Amino acid sequence: MTTRTPLIAGNWKLNKGGEDGCELAAAVARAAEKAPHVSVVVSPPFTALAAVAHTLSEEKSRVEVAAQNLYPKDSGAFTGEISAPMILTAGAKWVILGHSERRQYFAESNAFIREKIAAALAAGLRPIACIGETLAEREAGKTLDVVFEQLDSFADLFTKDPGFGVIAYEPVWAIGTGKVATPEQAEEVHAAIRSRLREKQGEKVAEQTLVLYGGSVKGSNAKELLGCPNIDGALVGGASLEPAGFAEIIAAAEALSAS
Ligand code: PEP
Repeated sequence: MTTRTPLIAGNWKLNKGGEDGCELAAAVARAAEKAPHVSVVVSPPFTALAAVAHTLSEEKSRVEVAAQNLYPKDSGAFTGEISAPMILTAGAKWVILGHSERRQYFAESNAFIREKIAAALAAGLRPIACIGETLAEREAGKTLDVVFEQLDSFADLFTKDPGFGVIAYEPVWAIGTGKVATPEQAEEVHAAIRSRLREKQGEKVAEQTLVLYGGSVKGSNAKELLGCPNIDGALVGGASLEPAGFAEIIAAAEALSAS
């Protein structure tokens, strides 16, 4: 297990965008109360961002809120977009950026994701920057080439305030597929990410940056994944929509970090 405070983040994607988001957030807040050694974040759609942040603050919860995207301008004629300062105003402290679904369905490039991460950092919003290879890339033996290219495209931005930004390693073939990376497969890439950070960005960034694993994490596999030395938590999609399942993942992190 990591010596860094583990983080469990739930990515709700295109779900729970109304009152149902507040109900789920309240259930997560109850689960987080039993896990004082774990940081917990929930990421609702934009429509529920302010309401979920309000619910959590009413509950006096430590659970924090993340947006799922931003546009890298503070304001202006960008119809349909949301800026980092707006996300902060809504009560969120985090933003998930570079998720593989954004790369795949919205053609987001490494360069554009870098701009978004820079905008988040400039505003004081904590980015969870996602990287990961497709199945074809893994099978072609290109996992580390792809992961390092994505990582190197933004990691220098993390040197100003080491530990403020977070990385999520999410093999695309494991997202929403039920196919989870084995702890050995995941740890191998996490250790390589940590070494790359050390080599390119220095010891402080390497030691203080949380590297989360994401890809079909659930209660039944959380313990063995989170038990790996370079896995500092999880970014959870499907299982974060179900309070009992998400609570199990939080409890697994707590058991490992409290022991
Ligand atoms: C995700 O979307 O970030 C994710 C990891 O999804 P799932 O847990 O459903 O694989």
